[in-house]
Amino acid sequence: MADFDTIIIGAGPGGYVAAIRAAQLGQKVACVEGRETLGGTCLNVGCIPSKALLHATHMLHETHENFEKMGLIGAAPKVDWAKMQAYKDDVVSGNTKGIEFLFKKNKVTWLKGWGTIPAPGQVKVGDDIHTARNIVIATGSEASSLPGVEIDEQTVVTSTGALTLAKPPKTMVVIGAGVIGLELGSVYARLGTEVTVVEYLDAITPGMDAEIAKTFQRILTKQGLKFVLGAAVQSVTKGKKGATVTWKLRKDDSEASLDAEIVLVATGRKPYTAGLGLEALGVEMGPRGTIKTDAHWQTNIPGLYAIGDAIAGPMLAHKAEDEGMAVAEVLAGKHGHVNYGVIPGVIYTTPEVANVGLTEEQLKAEGRAYKVGKFPFMGNARAKAVFQAEGFVKLIADATTDRILGAHIIGPAAGDLIHEICVAMEFGASAQDLALTCHAHPTWSEAVREAALACGDGAIHA
Ligand code: FAD
Repeated sequence: MADFDTIIIGAGPGGYVAAIRAAQLGQKVACVEGRETLGGTCLNVGCIPSKALLHATHMLHETHENFEKMGLIGAAPKVDWAKMQAYKDDVVSGNTKGIEFLFKKNKVTWLKGWGTIPAPGQVKVGDDIHTARNIVIATGSEASSLPGVEIDEQTVVTSTGALTLAKPPKTMVVIGAGVIGLELGSVYARLGTEVTVVEYLDAITPGMDAEIAKTFQRILTKQGLKFVLGAAVQSVTKGKKGATVTWKLRKDDSEASLDAEIVLVATGRKPYTAGLGLEALGVEMGPRGTIKTDAHWQTNIPGLYAIGDAIAGPMLAHKAEDEGMAVAEVLAGKHGHVNYGVIPGVIYTTPEVANVGLTEEQLKAEGRAYKVGKFPFMGNARAKAVFQAEGFVKLIADATTDRILGAHIIGPAAGDLIHEICVAMEFGASAQDLALTCHAHPTWSEAVREAALACGDGAIHA
């Protein structure tokens, strides 16, 4: 008999959720984690520490920008960087310990160390070989760099180094205008760093609704971030103080460079599967280093599954969690399911940016008839009261059936507002269904309803 029903390798949001759900469904479960703490990239060096720093620096920004307007007069707070780092570390350890507690509560065994798979049904950790009926790979991802750019996590850093800099730098170049680059760029811009974002494409946040991206860039520029778009980085050369980033503008091949104390390379992430022994096992791989799986997250090796950042799809914690729950259901003989058409994406800047479903650009490419309902936060009383009236809600519905196809929001609490639309989409709702739903006043959510009204006979406050 096998030692465990299921062994999961990796305790990030994919792995730890799979472990807990499998245990809840009556399985004997172990989770292998090589890090000192549970929670993976997300809790240790990703979602959670970045949101702590975003929160702290947002508070600072509010005191400088808006307190006086509300009659709150007094000395503005100064930054104690060591204390801010300690706050962030406390938030992280509170969360990682929380997962340890949940493992104990659900009787999940934590096998401490780095796991390999010497043969189907076996996981080796240290000198011990553990057997299981099923194995789930949830080993996540790692930052990818540019060819020839050497990361030292001191001067030329990935997001991991950027979360623990010795002090906020005077100047920073961020390579890549994606979610991670813009969130961390915002953190340092609010701390007084001169931040320049260099992006290969001609727009920020690739893949996002073009109108939102344009508005977002305008707002971030007002907040002090500088952008160089359409620029292919040629080299990053370390000097005595900082580094020099050289790029070529794609439109005319002209070359330019900029010195910065810190260079943050935020050019994306790639699946992390090193050392697992997948090649020897004959595991089929997909594009860009992903592990290939079927609709039930099973690889081509029976009993070997994979989820999260290590497989295809958006590299998001909640996508990994959903797959973790679903694969556990499958392993328990139930029907695990993930609706990949309704996975929200959020950028936790101020204002927040959120999206779900299809963009106008995608619908145009598909030749599908659609209608758009848009509502600016300028018409929302609550947003105006808190100085967050920039931005808008954009709802996209099918031209014939009125069924909601997607939503794109830039504005206050966009990352929470988006879920009303996710639920509506899961229920196959029409824009009119949302428009007919009573929304409390004064809330930011009213802007969602107004956008739905704008899909029909028109918004009231626009
Ligand atoms: P991971 O979280 O990467 O966990 C994998 C774990 O497996 C790691 O702990 C690793 O140590 C372990 N492991 C790997 N190999 C082995 C082995 N052989 N043996 C034992 N253990 C192993 N996503 C969001 O949704 N929202 C956000 O706000 C957000 N912010 C982010 C900010 C930053 C700076 C970064 C870097 C990422 C952010 N992400 C965010 C992405 C999110 O962190 C990932 O999508 C998510 O963590 C993926 O979960 P996972 O379980 O697949 O893998």
